[in-house]
Amino acid sequence: MGCSCGHCHDHDHEHHHEEENHENSCGCGCGHEHGEAQEGKEMLIRLAIGAALLLAGLFLPVGKWVSLGLMLLSLLAAGLPVFKKAFRNLIRGHMLDEMFLMAAASIGAFCIGEYFEGVMVMLLYTIGEYFQDRAVDKSRKSIVDAMDLRPETARIEKGGEWTEISPDEVQPGDILLVRPGEKIPLDGIVVEGESTLDTVALTGESMPREIRTGEHVISGCLNMQKALKIRATETYENSTVARILELAENAASRKARSDLLITRFARIYTPAVVLLALLCAVIPPVFFGGSWQEWIHTALTFLVISCPCALVISVPLTFFSGIGACSRRGILVKGANFLEALAQTEIAVFDKTGTLTEGKFSVTGIYPQNNMDENALLLLAASAEGWSNHPIAQSLREKFTPDMLLPLTEAEEIPGHGVIARVDGKRILAGNEKLMDRETIALEKAAHPGTCLHIAQDGKYMGCILLGDLPKAGAGEALEELKKTGVKQIVMLTGDGENAARAAAAQLGVSRYHAGLLPDGKVNRLEALLKEKSEKGALIFIGDGVNDAPVLSRADVGVAMGALGSDAAIEAADVVLMDDDPRKLPRAIAIARKTRLIVWQNILFSLGVKGVVMILGFFQLVPLWLAVFADVGVCFLAILNALRNR
Ligand code: ADP
Ligand code: MG
Repeated sequence: MGCSCGHCHDHDHEHHHEEENHENSCGCGCGHEHGEAQEGKEMLIRLAIGAALLLAGLFLPVGKWVSLGLMLLSLLAAGLPVFKKAFRNLIRGHMLDEMFLMAAASIGAFCIGEYFEGVMVMLLYTIGEYFQDRAVDKSRKSIVDAMDLRPETARIEKGGEWTEISPDEVQPGDILLVRPGEKIPLDGIVVEGESTLDTVALTGESMPREIRTGEHVISGCLNMQKALKIRATETYENSTVARILELAENAASRKARSDLLITRFARIYTPAVVLLALLCAVIPPVFFGGSWQEWIHTALTFLVISCPCALVISVPLTFFSGIGACSRRGILVKGANFLEALAQTEIAVFDKTGTLTEGKFSVTGIYPQNNMDENALLLLAASAEGWSNHPIAQSLREKFTPDMLLPLTEAEEIPGHGVIARVDGKRILAGNEKLMDRETIALEKAAHPGTCLHIAQDGKYMGCILLGDLPKAGAGEALEELKKTGVKQIVMLTGDGENAARAAAAQLGVSRYHAGLLPDGKVNRLEALLKEKSEKGALIFIGDGVNDAPVLSRADVGVAMGALGSDAAIEAADVVLMDDDPRKLPRAIAIARKTRLIVWQNILFSLGVKGVVMILGFFQLVPLWLAVFADVGVCFLAILNALRNR
């Protein structure tokens, strides 16, 4: 294989596991919504037929053989799918799962003449499955519903009248009317009206945003003040809401490690249990003169008890509800594995600009040379940055209206350096010292406090613009909280110069920072930091998604913030903070920790109960059907516990 990424192997497991789950119809909540209602109905019908046949077999005054036949039919009616799946898994080589355990137990019971018990095992198991499926289904729906994002209808203009249709029938280009108090159903551009939008459903916080004609709006926001007419720019499918919901729903099917742990555990556990059951059936009768009938019965009870369904169901559900809890607070977690990694955070690495600082640069000084005047230098720089989406570029452009900018015909952005552009036919460089060095432009080095944007025109140095950026509100607080939750190291990486980095670090209380890094320099730093953490700990990187995709993907968990409206960040990261509030990070970690706690509670609880019932079973103190009942009970408690995580 030769791959050292440490994931490939796990992916193997993932697929495997998923397939097994599907076969088991384990109701694990891992994304099998298709035909679930249908399946449920079938299950009910089979149950009814099975129960009727059982009663007939027990009470009808027919001969012994006919009644045995009825019982057998009843067993088949209730358990046919179980037998089928057990058989199929046997042939495929992964034989020893819960299907196998149930099939073996009920057939075994028939073999020793315990027909009633044999049928009851299967009936109870199927009833349990039915209710578990329902419970899991319901919980998943309530988790997704609680995100409160999905728009019910969209109002479009048809023949001079407004008609309400389903959002997925809207075509790009259609004009929508959104009244105050309604959610914006699709992404689009405001063509008429102005209002305030509330992003609470997307970000978890009420953040009113002023919106005017011509501006882009995102689906899922709540229109607060006045009616807006919006031209849809995307289909519903491609709109922000649908993409977020899809992410959240798919996230649950990416397995976390504790989940895989259970699959691995089952591979040892089930064969071990089967072996124990065999020994239990054979040894006492052969060596100690026990009754075969009695000990085979004990062995079967033992098999039934050993079923690990509570774990198979509750662990994925716990992760799913954890992911839902995050979503409701505007934190998208793209997989259970990332939620698990968040809980183990040891090192948190932050990008500076736009992540810990506002990324809104104010001009604090202009130092033109070559007889240029201050305003002309600023205009030249803003024009050269016309196509860049770097925070520096955006801040500069805000000083001018679009029609004031000089014509830009060519622009190349060099990450970590700046831009090389053709403005008004002249070759303009706008960037840091590195860019000037690269292009061999001579400049006097002055130690300005802040970020220096140097500008050159056709090979001549034209001066510099000094930019100041403030720490984000809440950034210091977020770092404080992270330290409190036990994050051992906080590191700031930046492509900005030493001066600006030192100032920001001091204001934020970050003791460790590395400045002047190019994107690949950031990756190298991150790799060095990865070696500093312990085996189990996780390193998370938090960036704003502007030219830090390589670092995002290299970290154990890549967190992008300020995703409202930025597709790139949503794609590249493992965890997405919908707004750019760094305080969401400690919150996400807290939810992740709670999720982990509940998972372990469920694991210990169900194994504990299992152990006790197994011992009771060994001393023949529990009948077979009660063993099944205990299993279903444990399972429900585990599900309830999983849902505490909201
Ligand atoms: P950070 O690590 O702080 O987020 P970046 O990697 O985005 O910073 O950029 C590092 C440095 O490269 C910036 O501080 C700036 O000096 C320079 N730079 C990058 N892109 C641009 C740009 N479009 N215009 C001017 N300077 C830029
Ligand atoms: Mg950046």
